[in-house]
Amino acid sequence: MKTLKDLDIENKKVIIRCDFNVPMKEGKITDDTRIVAALPTIKYCLDHNAKVILLSHLGRVKEEKDLAENDLSPVAERLSELLEQDILFSTETRGQELEDAVNMLQPKDIILIQNTRYEDLDGKKESSNDEELGAYWASLGEVFINDAFGTIHRAHASNCGIAAHLPSAFGFLIEKELTALSELDNPEHPFVVILGGAKVSDKIGVIENLVTKADKILIGGGMAFTFLKAKDIEIGKSLLDEENIEFCKNILKDYSDKIVLPIDVAVTNEYTDDEEYRVKDIEAITKDEMGLDIGPKTEELFEKEVSSAKIVVWNGPLGVYEFSKYKKNTDKLLEFLVNNNIKAILGGGDIVAAAADYKDKIYHASTGGGATLEYLEGKTLPGIEAIK
Ligand code: AMP
Repeated sequence: MKTLKDLDIENKKVIIRCDFNVPMKEGKITDDTRIVAALPTIKYCLDHNAKVILLSHLGRVKEEKDLAENDLSPVAERLSELLEQDILFSTETRGQELEDAVNMLQPKDIILIQNTRYEDLDGKKESSNDEELGAYWASLGEVFINDAFGTIHRAHASNCGIAAHLPSAFGFLIEKELTALSELDNPEHPFVVILGGAKVSDKIGVIENLVTKADKILIGGGMAFTFLKAKDIEIGKSLLDEENIEFCKNILKDYSDKIVLPIDVAVTNEYTDDEEYRVKDIEAITKDEMGLDIGPKTEELFEKEVSSAKIVVWNGPLGVYEFSKYKKNTDKLLEFLVNNNIKAILGGGDIVAAAADYKDKIYHASTGGGATLEYLEGKTLPGIEAIK
């Protein structure tokens, strides 16, 4: 993997595509995790006397009114505090003022350019990887570093467009993500996959890609009920993905030895956390009930399945984790993985949010969302190809 350590950046104008897509409320950053995560790459460039040019998207820009809401300048302020140095901010994504500012940069100076998606207002130039825009941004620098993992599954001007014109490499954040995720390409065995979350339809690609490689696939969450329905089990009012019953039937037929489904479940009559916590064996769900979490026997069964695993990948929570009662067994299984030092990669969907308390103890919590999911689906990711 080509990283910034493989490029000569000394005294060069280095463009870094960061992921500063931070949550904001009324113009204030509510969580600066992503800015902090970008620091190692930026600092490395500063240590090598680079003139640093930072690019990032923030939110979505479709109409004029989205501009003010997605102004990137608060990120410049926060970055300046974290690095204890002045950060120049270009209010424009292109133009003479930006070019003059870039040409004036001295080694160890930093400029942050306004939200790349401001260019989407005029014909989606950033998001459709407009050739001229990528070439223009590339013309501002001499070297390109992509460190924005969250958009690596997209071909945008600010990642693929620039990379087409400059010597390019990955930053430390992407290096960390790809190093961990690539362990799933040819996994050590036993390799166990845990799937949860809401819909089967969101996971079809992941199941198809991993079912041949995995030794076991443990299925919980809302998606388990479509598999149970495919086995003619009464699932009451539980989540059902009608269109994919047939897909589940086929997977169960072809891989019956690999798929592990819930044997008990926490049920309610309504979608609420107000009801008393109650557990039922899977065959005992009645028509007026719905399952909101796997039950304790299933959690124990899942523990047994992962206990000998050399590597585990987990996508999607096993219950409605937004209700604390039905987060219980997702937490228990996370705890089991951590306490037994089982190498686990969490990625895609809501599992990383559900596992916030375990983030630093788990082997790898992938930050990519859609990017991680597409990696798990075995898809070719344009941002990776562009650097390769
Ligand atoms: P995903 O984005 O695919 O990881 O799905 C996460 C969503 O799945 C969360 O909002 C959970 O509330 C939901 N979920 C998990 N288990 C269930 C369940 N048994 N019934 C309904 N929704 C569920």
